[in-house]
Amino acid sequence: MSDGDHRFDLLLRGGVVMTMDADRAVFDPGVVAVAGGRIVGVAPGGELGDRQAARVVDCSGCAVLPGLVDCHNHLFQALSRGLGDGLALWDWLTGLIWPYADHVTPEDARAAARLAAVEAVRAGTTSLLDNHYAPADPASTLAVAEAMEEVGLRGVVARGIFGPITDVARSRGIPDLLFRMSAEEELEATAACLDARPAGGRLEVWPAPINPTYVEPDLLSRAVGLARSAGVRWHTHCSEVRADSETSLATHGIRPLVRLAREGLLEGATIAHGIWLDDEEVGHLAETGAAVSHCPVANQYLASGVAPLRDLRRAGVVVGLGTDGPAGGQRQDLFECMKSSVLLQRVAALDPSAARAEDALEMATIGGAALLGIEGGSLEPGKLADLVVVDLRGSHLRPLHRVATALVYSARGPDVRMTVVGGEVVFEDGRCTRVDENEILIEAQARADALVERAGLSHLRGGWGLPRGPTL
Ligand SMILES: [Zn+2]
Repeated sequence: MSDGDHRFDLLLRGGVVMTMDADRAVFDPGVVAVAGGRIVGVAPGGELGDRQAARVVDCSGCAVLPGLVDCHNHLFQALSRGLGDGLALWDWLTGLIWPYADHVTPEDARAAARLAAVEAVRAGTTSLLDNHYAPADPASTLAVAEAMEEVGLRGVVARGIFGPITDVARSRGIPDLLFRMSAEEELEATAACLDARPAGGRLEVWPAPINPTYVEPDLLSRAVGLARSAGVRWHTHCSEVRADSETSLATHGIRPLVRLAREGLLEGATIAHGIWLDDEEVGHLAETGAAVSHCPVANQYLASGVAPLRDLRRAGVVVGLGTDGPAGGQRQDLFECMKSSVLLQRVAALDPSAARAEDALEMATIGGAALLGIEGGSLEPGKLADLVVVDLRGSHLRPLHRVATALVYSARGPDVRMTVVGGEVVFEDGRCTRVDENEILIEAQARADALVERAGLSHLRGGWGLPRGPTL
């Protein structure tokens, strides 16, 4: 709570306040008051009174917006950033990510998570959903949650569940190395993590059967049951590549999301990617309140496809944005994802009205908060005090006509001046407040060097890249 002498812990005044409330009110200038980790006042002008606040921040020349929410990530992959360029999803997985996952140690995963979490808060991310799957033991899974918390993030660690290898997985060429645990072991490990990080905490654990098409059907439904009995949602990759629906049709005789809907599993689902969907699947997502983590930068990087964003949003499906981790998207920067989410729709439809800056801001804030089930995403009294101050004074942001378009098309992660999570400043004026960033960077580089060597991935480093045929 606020200290005895002051009504507010923090008062942000003088900036353009993008409330993202039901009316999408913009106050220019506006004031935001924070107390006890919550937003307690939002108003136009400067009406809330400086003397009542323990700390007043002058946000002149800046925008104040709800904290950005990253709805799909793999923090443990951060030590592989920059490797495997030019590979399609399957080659990228078999040639880079799976050998990496086979050799990553718990200490590597923690170092990767700390690095990527630092990068995220520096770019205005306040909440993050991490899909962790290597190493998948409870201690490593919980270490990722600790790393996120240490840097100051809120969010979810969705523990990846593979179980015993299935014929479908074999037919897709997925290596045995990921399918190390029995169904019982997977469920026990996930339950142990759920017990350690129960629903409602700053960091939750969710079950994440890795892909409904190639995880054992019984394990899939038991994992969803585990989520429901623990009062949390669940996460999975689905329809990232066209082969997901083709494989599901060939093996189960049904498209993947239609199958989840018929089996009553779709409620509480958060679907990473959701690119190759038909109208029936979009309808099921809307009916069940399931949500989609849209990853436009990673989808371009791996040439996976273009999500049917307009159909999803028109149908009323909750959509948030995800970076898909430092390996798949190369940066933890939701400003980049916002811009890409708009441009990708436009070029796919050959229609500049296919998406707007406002769509991107909604997905990055209120959409993401709805997907994670947190009381954030907008600046309104009673909401969590998760917010970002973005400096709009750079040459790339001037002249300033419309703040929404400036934020989505011109702003970048490094324009973030302050990141606040639960009323606490976790990043300000170029410095993370909770951790020694230099130490984190040095450890990450040393561990990345050793891991790449150990996993036999050194050939992917240096030089002029992979020997490939002429491209352009
Ligand atoms: Zn992913």
